[in-house]
Amino acid sequence: MQRRNFLTLSGLTLLGAVSPACGEQAPGTRAATSQQRVVVIGAGLAGLAAARELHNNGYDVVIVEGRDRIGGRVWTSLDWPDMPLDLGASWIHGTQGNPITELADQINAQRVVTSYDRAITYNTAGAPLTAAEASLMADLRAQVLRAIAAAQEAETDTSIQQVMAPLRQPLEPDSEAARFINFILSSEIEQEYAGSIDQLSSHWYDSDQQFEGDEALFLPGFQVIPEFLAQGLTLELGQVVQAIHWQSAPLRVITQQTEFLADRVVVTLPLGVLQADTVQFVPTLPPDKQAAIAQLGMGVLNKCYLRFPDSFWPADVDWLGHIPANPGEWVDWVSFQRVANQPILLGFNAAHQGRAIEALSDQQIVDSAMQTLRTIYGDPIPEPTDHQITRWAADPFALGSYSFNAVGSAPTMRHHLAAPLEASVFFAGEATNGDYFGTTHGAYLSGVRAAREIMAQ
Ligand SMILES: Cc1cc2nc3c(=O)[nH]c(=O)nc-3n(C[C@H](O)[C@H](O)[C@H](O)COP(=O)(O)OP(=O)(O)OC[C@H]3O[C@@H](n4cnc5c(N)ncnc54)[C@H](O)[C@@H]3O)c2cc1C
Repeated sequence: MQRRNFLTLSGLTLLGAVSPACGEQAPGTRAATSQQRVVVIGAGLAGLAAARELHNNGYDVVIVEGRDRIGGRVWTSLDWPDMPLDLGASWIHGTQGNPITELADQINAQRVVTSYDRAITYNTAGAPLTAAEASLMADLRAQVLRAIAAAQEAETDTSIQQVMAPLRQPLEPDSEAARFINFILSSEIEQEYAGSIDQLSSHWYDSDQQFEGDEALFLPGFQVIPEFLAQGLTLELGQVVQAIHWQSAPLRVITQQTEFLADRVVVTLPLGVLQADTVQFVPTLPPDKQAAIAQLGMGVLNKCYLRFPDSFWPADVDWLGHIPANPGEWVDWVSFQRVANQPILLGFNAAHQGRAIEALSDQQIVDSAMQTLRTIYGDPIPEPTDHQITRWAADPFALGSYSFNAVGSAPTMRHHLAAPLEASVFFAGEATNGDYFGTTHGAYLSGVRAAREIMAQ
């Protein structure tokens, strides 16, 4: 969701593909025709980037997509005509040098910047943190960071939860310090990486790289990027891939309705879908790829947009934080009042909490969110006039929000996930990107990388 510089970054190691020469890829700049037929599975950013690059270089490309829309985990709802809402990715995380910025610039997409400097945090009772509470929070945060830094030097990997045990054990579970630590872990680790602290690897959870710059939202919605990339490409929507036969030429991609023949295939199935094993590979995938699929984690981040008649919260803040009694419950909120002049709040639930909330009805989710908001702003605040709620774990074409480094995984596994099968099947998608997993730019760059692997054959 958000990319805070939680731990000190060890510097950026940018892929060659970070300067993807987007100008060269603009729709309509096609190179000489190649006879090669490539089937790209998935019309998310990874698939669209791969298809765009190959199309521009003369390949005969078809994108086979299970949904009836493009974008995958980039999905803008237009249900509220005056306010497009991103149900999947919202932000360009770090605008400087980010390939999504380059694409957005090409189409002059209108963006606004949210800032963690415009934030207010409320204690469990709903009052803004006092100076003493803010100081305790800073102190505990330093302790959390020190514990993780020490764990990252240790021989054996453990979960973040295990690392936190010495800090948390002496505390009463309901004590202020325990709640503050839970808040730090949820807001700064679980909401960002979407894995829960009992699953996240302390060694590797933050092995990703980050771009510098602002956190920018698209006013017309992130969907403008997949729409731009898809221009002029051949798309087969509503084609749910069931099997990929890759042993002999031509390769066969079998869907519920038909089959597509190809010289090469690019697979951009989300990690959650690969883990569910709903797409059969014939023959089966090699052991190191299977191990990567099994051991990397697929996290959950869910969104709940609430629309009110008027805003009752401070108009000049972008982020609202609440330290809940129940760990992970509605800890982070974004306000659209300042950036979009709309009385809309977006509440998040991540990791176990994000998964658990999917079992509730919309009304139960709204009631639960309102309980938190009433704790902060008082009983008289109005009911929302409307809501929009996501359930990414239950979405059969995603089965989660984005990947994380689980205990038992290692960064090399993302390379195994990305490795081609016999120069015929190539893999892209956010989970294959060791530097930028869990992001739109990671997905985009992985697609460019897979296309260039094919072009290098
Ligand atoms: C709630 C949420 C918030 C996020 N916030 C941000 C953010 O603010 N900034 C950011 O940079 N990133 C964010 N992300 C992450 C980002 O959205 C993803 O990393 C990225 O969009 C993944 O792109 P992809 O192409 O790898 O996968 P996808 O977009 O999932 O594309 C894969 C495609 O494969 C299709 N597919 C699946 N199964 C089949 C099948 N059997 N047959 C055919 N097609 C199939 C899917 O429908 C999908 O279209 C967020 C994600 C979520 C869910």
